[in-house]
Amino acid sequence: MSDPHQNAVAQLEVVAKLLVDQYQDKKRFKQVIEKLKTPDRVIEGQLKVKMDNGQVRQFKAFRSQHNNARGPYKGGIRFHPDVNKFEVMALSTWMTWKCAVTGIPYGGSKGGVVVNPRELSQAELERLSRAYVNFVADDIGPWTDIPAPDVSTTGQTMAWMVDEWEKVRRQRDGQMHENPLATFTGKPLALGGSQGRDEATGLGGAYILEKMARALGKKPQTTTVAVQGFGNVGSWFAIHAHRLGYKIVAISDSKGAIYVETGLDPNKALACKQAGGQLGDSAKSCPSCANKKMEKLTNDQLLELDVDVLVPSALENVITSQNAHKIKAKAIIEMANGPITPEADSILDKKGILVIPDVLANAGGVTVSYFEWVQNLQGYYWSHEEVLTKLKPLMETAFDQMWQMKEKTGQSGRVSVYLTAVKRVVDAVMLRGRG
Ligand code: NAD
Repeated sequence: MSDPHQNAVAQLEVVAKLLVDQYQDKKRFKQVIEKLKTPDRVIEGQLKVKMDNGQVRQFKAFRSQHNNARGPYKGGIRFHPDVNKFEVMALSTWMTWKCAVTGIPYGGSKGGVVVNPRELSQAELERLSRAYVNFVADDIGPWTDIPAPDVSTTGQTMAWMVDEWEKVRRQRDGQMHENPLATFTGKPLALGGSQGRDEATGLGGAYILEKMARALGKKPQTTTVAVQGFGNVGSWFAIHAHRLGYKIVAISDSKGAIYVETGLDPNKALACKQAGGQLGDSAKSCPSCANKKMEKLTNDQLLELDVDVLVPSALENVITSQNAHKIKAKAIIEMANGPITPEADSILDKKGILVIPDVLANAGGVTVSYFEWVQNLQGYYWSHEEVLTKLKPLMETAFDQMWQMKEKTGQSGRVSVYLTAVKRVVDAVMLRGRG
């Protein structure tokens, strides 16, 4: 697979060529773009962790801080064997654009540890999480860089990290000068987490679906939707889209897909999964899902369905140059990060398929993380309804800005979103006199 950081740089170059005419001082603009091609800082280290058998193991760790012109760096920490420097650099760059898309006052960062978390016990994971915090303790904080969960890290990971960061900073400074709860987001509710965080990404995507359908003049009840991936993001997306009246005809998880031409109820499918059933055999094993018209599909077949909207919500690189020409959906909402490769993107563009890119479609998650930080800083917590009500206008405005840019420039959805996001960051860098 290509180097993700090179992909991020290539995207920035495309957008810079389209933006340059808006700047009088072209030399300065080009300097700022050069600066944005590389993160401000990439911190690398080896974490030493005592394992349950008494031996000490070392784990490679990274934190990439891309840009903080619009506010503190913000980005998750992933525990995964494939983590590498170029991946965290790319992910931190995309976080900068994602925060700029919805206008939340953050820059982008990302962290990671090279580890297979399935090989570690809970106690070892706790010691690894605490070791990571020691490694970045001076580089994070509520006004510096605010981590969150990512692949294989959870609310529990953040809880250990809050505790460790508070301990380390108290030891170092003699007292606590900064707010430890506001230093991490994605925390459990019992430790300063926000209402609505679990469903925020999926719900934000459903708001985007609503806006897109309206812009295309389509009615919910006649708009068919196929959702690949039925985890946190996919299930909440499907549940909210169903609530808004859209016809969810297919869903899938890693074990396979189901298709119901007349539409299915994702609430029932989720109840079935939570009861230990599988999507593929739910008609047999789960009476609440029973539907005589249900067909089983493979995951590839789901991607190739003739539907109005395809919603990849599982993994990166699922639509590639190998299968892009088989996609029949009229529009794609990228709820997963990076589900379409750059080669596939241009094939889809030529086929006239509208793609709503990940940095807009799944920005609901980081937006509610921002709400969590605001609540932690003020020490006053909002109701579930308040959180969701505040999310809607931010997502809708971000969609409107993308749509207007698309109509004005004739560019793809992805380039249109990037034009707005990159310009916001470039302007902030210039206003500060940096670059
Ligand atoms: P998750 O682990 O909860 O769910 C992933 C789902 O994908 C599971 O149902 C799994 O069975 C399914 N899956 C795995 N392989 C598959 C395959 N080959 N075909 C079909 N389904 C398959 O993860 P999540 O939190 O829902 O994240 C999904 C995607 O959304 C990731 O790309 C993630 O980076 C992105 N994302 C998540 C959030 C968030 O708030 N959770 C925010 C922004 C972006």
